[in-house]
Amino acid sequence: MVMRTVGTRERAESVEDLSQWLENLKGCPPIGHTSVARCFHPSHGDEPPTWFYVEADGEAGVARLRCLSGGHVHELLDSAERWTFPPAWACRACSQSIAEVVYGVSERGGKADWLAVAVRCVECGDVAGVCDLVLPSLDLDLLLGAL
Ligand SMILES: [Zn+2]
Ligand SMILES: [Zn+2]
Repeated sequence: MVMRTVGTRERAESVEDLSQWLENLKGCPPIGHTSVARCFHPSHGDEPPTWFYVEADGEAGVARLRCLSGGHVHELLDSAERWTFPPAWACRACSQSIAEVVYGVSERGGKADWLAVAVRCVECGDVAGVCDLVLPSLDLDLLLGAL
């Protein structure tokens, strides 16, 4: 998996920095679109939160986010059907497990063919790629709407 070969430890000051980190990733398909994960459950009103617990399997390319403030579960695409019960993500630097999450998408001509999921530790800013997956040339707008 491409993300796991990204070896250097880096930190991001903000979720915008994390998006930029994804866009600058080398050794993988070029990431032209990024999208910050937010929980749009109606109970959050006008302020969809961006803090999540993350479970992800880099080998299988599955991920699940659980929003910190409401416990709402978000499966990444068809992850539920292929679920491998990976352990919860915890920061390699400080061990806590609340993260901001950004999706990075590689597309050509409006068709998305690769997706990467990156996290930023909300405590110390450590960034990591947690999983990535090849897509069957999905319509970019549909994909962004489904994330
Ligand atoms: Zn929520
Ligand atoms: Zn940390």
